[in-house]
Amino acid sequence: APRVGVLALQGDVREHARVLADLGADVVAVRRPDELASVDGLVIPGGESSVIDKLSRTFGMRHPVREAISDGMPVYGTCAGLILLADRIADGIVGQQTFGGLDVTVQRNAFGSQVDSFEVDLDVPALGAPHVHAVFIRAPLVLDAGDAVERLATLDDGRVVAVRQGALLGTSFHPEVSGEDRFHRLFLDMVRERVR
Ligand code: GLN
Repeated sequence: APRVGVLALQGDVREHARVLADLGADVVAVRRPDELASVDGLVIPGGESSVIDKLSRTFGMRHPVREAISDGMPVYGTCAGLILLADRIADGIVGQQTFGGLDVTVQRNAFGSQVDSFEVDLDVPALGAPHVHAVFIRAPLVLDAGDAVERLATLDDGRVVAVRQGALLGTSFHPEVSGEDRFHRLFLDMVRERVR
């Protein structure tokens, strides 16, 4: 079974761990560099990106995660996790950093405070039928993306909400809360591909 971590500093760690375990993965809660070194892939959960950023520095995890990303470790970020994978934030709070790796600019809380959360059925060609039932919670948007970035899903108005660039996968929404496991399956395939 692939051995994968969920970055467990803040956010919906359990929901991801459950989906991954149900898919047969060996799941590790990652808080320390030695835990990160023991896994072949990492999920960065949803939560509050500025808090995860801060805690990653407090726990000495910022550098190890950046190293893992530049070594080509498969990483899947949902919502706050997508923000943490982005090279650029349009509107971060002062001093907010990301791990980076995805050549995208994200806008945090892009749907405004009046629409804190919503759900929509998305067409994701890379995953086939049926539609992905996507839950957005104070979600970010991908404002622009470099040429190496594959756009996996857009809203009806064309705004980008799921991307892949090499070993990095990011979604604005939370498949882990709606019983949708195909993004996690894709992530585990990426892990198996790289491990072999
Ligand atoms: N709004 C949060 C942030 O900017 C993300 C919300 C989420 O992960 N559901 O980090």
